[in-house]
Amino acid sequence: MPGPFTLKPLPWAEDALAPTISARTISFHYHKHHNAYVETLNKLVSGTRYADMPLEQVVRATAAGKDAKEKQIFNNAGQVWNHDFFWRSLTTNGAAPSGKLQDRIERDFGGTQKLLEQLAEAGKTQFGSGWAWLCSQGGKLSVEKTPNAESPMSKGINCLLTIDVWEHAYYLDYQNARPKYLEEVLGKLINWEFAAENLGRESEPVRAAA
Ligand code: MN
Repeated sequence: MPGPFTLKPLPWAEDALAPTISARTISFHYHKHHNAYVETLNKLVSGTRYADMPLEQVVRATAAGKDAKEKQIFNNAGQVWNHDFFWRSLTTNGAAPSGKLQDRIERDFGGTQKLLEQLAEAGKTQFGSGWAWLCSQGGKLSVEKTPNAESPMSKGINCLLTIDVWEHAYYLDYQNARPKYLEEVLGKLINWEFAAENLGRESEPVRAAA
């Protein structure tokens, strides 16, 4: 059933992240889990005002979840946005943080390794399903964690990157070893260029207002 929201293409080939994340995991995660959120969202918003909104706006408008239907829309819209953001948070290009992002990581965490440790800790200690995030608020970086479909974005906070810590993200490759999955992904696949782009996005309105 066609709808306003689409399954965006992955930014790399399905086997590009192997062996850190196998093609089998990406295939299930993208074609089954992510796609199911898109299809369910399209059914739920059909004939509602949400059908004409950009995805980010749907997430924010339903974050308060006034009734069961709104909560369902939030869960599915949130998961579509989170997965789009997660895929782009991963890369195989291996570039380290540079420029302003590197400066902020030094200032706010004392270095990339310390930031990675905090992200791993956030991912490990998120009880049940959820997400670990690097965010910026007024240029200050912070590590956050959210349960289920929630995100800092839904509360208006600028996100730089995220790691999916739902079991479906790692179970085929790491079984129950979430800490090992986090160590491997954080050590090998983080897209710091994407994080830098997102950091730049936050400073735009600040400059415009000055
Ligand atoms: Mn997922």
